[in-house]
Amino acid sequence: MSKYWSKLVASVEPYVPGEQPKDRNYVKLNTNENPYPPSTQVLEAIKATANESLKLYPDPNGEELKRTLANYCGLKKEQIFFGNGSDEVLAFAFMAFFDPEVPVLFPDITYSFYPVYANLFKIDYELIPLKDDFTLPVEQFFKPNGGIIFPNPNAPTGEYITVEAIEEILHHNQDHVVIVDEAYVDFGGESAQSLIDQYPNLLVVQTFSKSRSLAGLRVGFALGQEELIQGLERIKNSINSYTLDRLALAGAVEAIKDEAYFQATRNKIIRTRERVSDELGKMGFKVIPSKTNFIFISHPTVKAEELFLKLKEEAILVRYFKQPRIDNYLRVSIGSDIEMDRFLEAVRKIT
Ligand code: PMP
Repeated sequence: MSKYWSKLVASVEPYVPGEQPKDRNYVKLNTNENPYPPSTQVLEAIKATANESLKLYPDPNGEELKRTLANYCGLKKEQIFFGNGSDEVLAFAFMAFFDPEVPVLFPDITYSFYPVYANLFKIDYELIPLKDDFTLPVEQFFKPNGGIIFPNPNAPTGEYITVEAIEEILHHNQDHVVIVDEAYVDFGGESAQSLIDQYPNLLVVQTFSKSRSLAGLRVGFALGQEELIQGLERIKNSINSYTLDRLALAGAVEAIKDEAYFQATRNKIIRTRERVSDELGKMGFKVIPSKTNFIFISHPTVKAEELFLKLKEEAILVRYFKQPRIDNYLRVSIGSDIEMDRFLEAVRKIT
């Protein structure tokens, strides 16, 4: 392959998303989706929008959605950026804010899209190893860097650090942007949003994919001071004016408005997570304490890869990472109580 474009394309290492099987009979616990459907209010709004206005372009600035979220979280709408899933928000943030001259820091065990973006945008990075108990070594993020990103809670471990610890990281890195990826924060974590007023270098990223049951609609957002948000808008408006379509804009507004449904479903998932963690503990599993909608587990005798394959034979799909330090763990998304009972029953049979 000597052609210039062939080499260019071959150097890109894409992210590989979790399996989405066609067979609907799987108990699907592999991609941290919400087991409950979106609120009926959301579905009604999407249907009405589909009937009325799909021939027209959407609002490129998503003004109504920004106003609704601003009201909800007590920020100004100029402090909010929306993207096509938080993956897109993260990609724009890598492009906009990370210094290609100095390595960006992120944990060695973390969301595997970060190194993909870094490679794509030719940004150098340094991996910060997690401690033996998989917690984040906060002081390791005080060294000079070209930016920092980590999920809180982390994925796929489910561990989290306190807002006080995040503040220390921000304090030590005032010249570079610190991105806190809060994809799972609604399942028991605490948002770093309260630090935005004080720290112009903080960008908090969240998603409607998990706690709002809208993985298929693709809505994510960033919160930060106006200068950072304007930076993201500049990148977005240089690539695509309409990253959120009309259905996404309409559905997301209603997802924010239906607070009762949001609270009921996320509390249900937290209760199920605690019950399943207890049961697995009793069965001898090591269960990393989780503040997310998944658990990270390891069995003392049955190898994770074997358990993964045997669960698949039982039509139960979980996530296995063939990666140093975590290749004897499985990440299991929290499904409905019925789904988790099927999972526990299969695990009992196998182990
Ligand atoms: N951040 C983390 C840590 C995630 O696990 C995910 C989901 N795979 C995302 C971001 C992206 O979520 P989405 O693009 O669906 O908003």
